[in-house]
Amino acid sequence: MRIVVQSRCCVKGGRLRALSLNSRLPSAPSHLKKAMSITTTGEIVGQARAAGRGAGAFNVVTMEHAEAIIAGAERALTPVILQISENTVRFHGGLVAPIAAAAAALARASTVPVSLHLDHVEDDRLLRQSAETGFSSAMYDASKLSYQDNVIATRRAVEWAHAHDLWLEAELGEIGGKDGPHASGVRTRPNDAVDFVSNTGVDALAVAVGSSHAMTTRTAALDHQLIAALGTALPVPIVLHGSSGVSDAELQRAVAHGIVKVNVGTILNIAFTTTIRDALATDLSLVDPRKYLTPARDQMSEVVRRILTALNNSAAPRGS
Ligand SMILES: [Zn+2]
Repeated sequence: MRIVVQSRCCVKGGRLRALSLNSRLPSAPSHLKKAMSITTTGEIVGQARAAGRGAGAFNVVTMEHAEAIIAGAERALTPVILQISENTVRFHGGLVAPIAAAAAALARASTVPVSLHLDHVEDDRLLRQSAETGFSSAMYDASKLSYQDNVIATRRAVEWAHAHDLWLEAELGEIGGKDGPHASGVRTRPNDAVDFVSNTGVDALAVAVGSSHAMTTRTAALDHQLIAALGTALPVPIVLHGSSGVSDAELQRAVAHGIVKVNVGTILNIAFTTTIRDALATDLSLVDPRKYLTPARDQMSEVVRRILTALNNSAAPRGS
């Protein structure tokens, strides 16, 4: 059974817009013809980079998230990356297999290419489970370690990942920065990033350019000059974390300057939770979760459709 997510306002307009948008994307039709199967993050990111588009990667917490993300991507006619974080695995009792199996089954049933990515992994045992649970990529986060130890641990993770056909992302903020790469004011220096990539062999690098995790307002101002410098200096695609705090227009500029993978989490949870809160407050007799999860899932789907459409429209000349 396919779940058709009906957005209240925009299904028809969204489909028409997505179709006209698709006609301007040279690589999209071939994606869509082969589709209907799980693909790899490396393929989605590589194709987006070659076309000057952003690749949307959205955090899955529950099965409704995965359903909503795929429905939004189908309406945008765009490939999408489903991300499951170590924190989410912890929420599911430390078991990655059940939520990954659900996400993989939904990915296989999708009409657009979908990949699975394990996000912010610190636990090596979890990383080693990724290859057998349907993931094609992981983000390995050793940023709590000293720089030297971060390089050693990340290089070891890359060696293991490549031996198992996994694409590995890592992140680098300010070397020695105590509060992590996403603390406000932290920036990734291009020379440090070049050294880190060549010393570790990572396939993509998340950089600190002005966004922060878990922002609930879309007011972050990104350092576009730095994005352009990093995009030019690095041989691998660069990744923006904390994108929920960044407006669509800022995301489009970031992609035009060189960001490729765009990680989005909090903004989906805002759409999900505020819709549930409103539904429960409006009808105090409501007990059937399907009654309030349905509109909540619809709202998440609409956010995904809108962001993916924005990322597809950002192919302005680099360096502008
Ligand atoms: Zn992150």
